[in-house]
Amino acid sequence: MRIGMIGTGYVGLVSGTCFAEFGFHVSCADKDETKIEQLKKGKIPIFEPQLESLVERQLKADRLEFTTDIKQVVENSDAVFIAVGTPSRREDGDVNLDYVYGAAREIAQYINKYTVIITKSTVPIGTAREIKRIILEENPQADFDVASNPEFLREGAAINDFMRPDRVLIGAESERACEVLRSIYRPLFLNQTPIVFVSLETAELAKYASNAFLATKITFINEIANLCEATGANVQDVARAMGYDGRIGSKFLHAGPGYGGSCFPKDTLALVQMGEKYNTPQTIVSQVVQVNKNRFIEMADKIILACGSDVMNKKIGILGISFKPNTDDVRDAPSLTIIPYLQERGAIIKAHDPEAIEQAKKCLVNIHWCKDAYDVAVDCDALVILTEWNEYRALDLKRLSQSMKIKTLLDLRNIYKDSDIEGVIENYISVGRFKRL
Ligand code: NAD
Repeated sequence: MRIGMIGTGYVGLVSGTCFAEFGFHVSCADKDETKIEQLKKGKIPIFEPQLESLVERQLKADRLEFTTDIKQVVENSDAVFIAVGTPSRREDGDVNLDYVYGAAREIAQYINKYTVIITKSTVPIGTAREIKRIILEENPQADFDVASNPEFLREGAAINDFMRPDRVLIGAESERACEVLRSIYRPLFLNQTPIVFVSLETAELAKYASNAFLATKITFINEIANLCEATGANVQDVARAMGYDGRIGSKFLHAGPGYGGSCFPKDTLALVQMGEKYNTPQTIVSQVVQVNKNRFIEMADKIILACGSDVMNKKIGILGISFKPNTDDVRDAPSLTIIPYLQERGAIIKAHDPEAIEQAKKCLVNIHWCKDAYDVAVDCDALVILTEWNEYRALDLKRLSQSMKIKTLLDLRNIYKDSDIEGVIENYISVGRFKRL
């Protein structure tokens, strides 16, 4: 069994490398020549824990190769995964499928034996069938099946998620395609991972439904946090009490600055868009989208309020730019809305992130980048924890506070406790834990 992977971003690179770990020969293709040149030398263009050593090992074992030549990949593969980007085309959430359909057209030209073409990208209902139509249009003689195998890995924990997933979801029509995918995922199946076989449409929708449900959980607890601040209840205790209930579960109940990243924002919008297309309004998710959008502004206003309702010429230190820890991905991160909002009101921004500064420089301007949290704190009027990187979890708060001009800490991820702060930080503001005065 030889596997082809089209697109070597967060998903394609991790999936391709992990398939090689399973023992298959994997060819990964990308249009981005610089990326492929780097990868051939074993250099990883993204930050993802454990990935570099795995790529290095598989390159050495000759099980993994990188190329820009899609022809070679398709001709030599029994299964070809499409893992290209599916960004939002517009504010309303219409998904841009140009990369997916472009890849399908290219793949079609080179199918020379029975091949299964599988979408790993998150794509709207009907995409796999459209890929089938495109391939037949380009190459009516092609012997192939399409399948849908949405990916559920999380950036920052991608290798573990891929190797030990909660389930593998496969949408397919033919028994032959199911058999190929069963062989590919056999190592996980032997480890008791549930492999769920469904229709193409079901697989496509289940991915969006999962992401939208998780985004809803986050948004729900964020609104509960507001109620906590108004009443003196503690959102972490509320979440703990809720989480013990097996029907609810404790995950994704952490109040914070709102969800961001390369998936939840675009996938919630896409689900709303699908609801409109099929005249079945997704009212809950559409509210979630709106509430989350407002959340970023609410958080920026919280920072301004903590600075005496005016940030003109005030120095605000930001800890964490990436949308979550352990990734350099800044796509749709809360920081990308909050920082410009503060800058528009005259704030001077100092910031640090352990891995995302290079990515952040492409979307944020006029930032004084600092070497660590202590460097950020110097002369600040307020310090804001926006991403809960481990290195911010055990800061020497006394040292931080001594170098700050005004001792205000906004912990928007609730990583410190009251007892950590007492007598060290004069003004500590977190999310949903203390009554708003
Ligand atoms: P990405 O932007 O990091 O990578 C996409 C890659 O595809 C890029 O390197 C691009 O150059 C390449 N590409 C585009 N068109 C191509 C073509 N025709 N031929 C070859 N290469 C091509 O995207 P990503 O974050 O890996 O996401 C990919 C898909 O997986 C998206 O649909 C996303 O929603 C989904 N997904 C992402 C995550 C995640 O955490 N990032 C998790 C689950 C699912």
